Amino acid sequence: MSREDIPFLFAMRETVSEDIDLLWTLRGLDEELVALNAALKRFPAQRASIAQRLAAERARLEHAKARFAELQKTRRALEQEIAGVSETERRFKGQQAAVKKNEEFRALQHEIEGAQNRRSELETGVLLQLEAEDRELAERPALERAVTAAEHETAERLAQIEAEERTDRERVAALEAERRTHVERLSAGVRTRYERIRTSLEGRALVPIVKGACGGCYRGQPPQVVQEARKRDRVLICDGCGRMLLWPPEGA
Ligand SMILES: [Zn+2]
Repeated sequence: MSREDIPFLFAMRETVSEDIDLLWTLRGLDEELVALNAALKRFPAQRASIAQRLAAERARLEHAKARFAELQKTRRALEQEIAGVSETERRFKGQQAAVKKNEEFRALQHEIEGAQNRRSELETGVLLQLEAEDRELAERPALERAVTAAEHETAERLAQIEAEERTDRERVAALEAERRTHVERLSAGVRTRYERIRTSLEGRALVPIVKGACGGCYRGQPPQVVQEARKRDRVLICDGCGRMLLWPPEGA
């Protein structure tokens, strides 16, 4: 492979080193932008998970309220049934006072005892319902406190996230402004190429050669390319990913 076979950018101006320095600086800014933009994507998921936690606490409270209402409804039905049975009992007792025959009296007595047993069963049922209602009510304050705590925590976390996001977005805006000043100073051909690659390759247009390989796609570079890159007098293009390749400056 001769020097002419190596893919590189033509139209570098005379002060090539200025373009190369600008590109290297741009790369640093753009890498930070890539990282920041990736990090910004975490916020919607964080907000959703916080909202979900609050919704779960509220649902627990709502379920408890629904259970309590159901217990009350069941108890009221039992109480109505007791009223009915008591009425029946009174009626039989009235009839009993009027009958003359022992046989009829005993038959009514049997009915009355049946009604009394049924009433007693129903009353036990009412007591059990009341106990269950008391247990539900005893748990209520803890559930309500959990909702209040979740609401406070939600508000606090959302404010935190908002502040973090604002900081990140301000940094993004600052980086965008800073990179524009460098982009403007690039020679036209390099600028167009850089911006085009940046758009098509998720914000990373230029990568260093690391251990003889492309720092973007990790494809090993031929020794000639590495040798050329070391001169730092032009920008090479990676065959693998199409990104610009630069030998990192001393101390980078
Ligand atoms: Zn590559």
